[in-house]
Amino acid sequence: MKSAICKTTPLLLIEKTRADWPTLPSRADKEFDSLYTISGEALLTTFCAVSEKKISEEFIDFIETVRQKRNEAIHGASKISIGVKELLDHILNAYTWCFGKDAWFLETRNFNYENPLFGYYDWDIEYADAYRHLDFALDILGKKKLNKYLKTEILGRAYFCPVCKRTIDGDFGYLESKWAFIKPNKPESTNIHCINCDAEFNVIRKDCIGEKCKGNVIHDYEGEETCLTCFEYQENE
Ligand SMILES: [Zn+2]
Ligand SMILES: [Zn+2]
Repeated sequence: MKSAICKTTPLLLIEKTRADWPTLPSRADKEFDSLYTISGEALLTTFCAVSEKKISEEFIDFIETVRQKRNEAIHGASKISIGVKELLDHILNAYTWCFGKDAWFLETRNFNYENPLFGYYDWDIEYADAYRHLDFALDILGKKKLNKYLKTEILGRAYFCPVCKRTIDGDFGYLESKWAFIKPNKPESTNIHCINCDAEFNVIRKDCIGEKCKGNVIHDYEGEETCLTCFEYQENE
């Protein structure tokens, strides 16, 4: 919100009457750090005044809740009522509101990617390892809540990503998480999108040969057909 206000002028962040603004030619410049900034409540009204976007009542309520919870945490150490689930929900909601869906995940993945130690073990594995952030968010928030913060609809059935699965499986570990979803989510769709590596793949809609598997999403990996539900190789009879 402060960055949006600064696009108009940072003076709006200063707790001073306008007559005291150091803007006239005769006034000396002042260090920004030496001035008092406006309170959280004033920040919200100022933000609404300069925002190009129409601000919804829902967002105002959300920011007000965050402000109160924040004050509680800073000034009332003994009665902090916020829990992990609510906190993570607030963080992803703020990200999504300000920067759009997926932004929180792309940001965490990029944070890892830009780390100077990134790739020290293995580029591909470390990149694919971002699925842990998705797993974490899913574990804390559940599918329904997390769905609000991702562009891809995750309420449908999840599948293995042919690339992420092959990358993680092996000496390093075993991937159990499924972050690929049929796009669009229709029985005849032949396209799958992996949220983790952001790649799309063509799939064949036919039943898996596995006796216990009810999957019908098969991926052709260089002539090797694999079921994306159980990841079994589809041996031709
Ligand atoms: Zn993937
Ligand atoms: Zn299968």
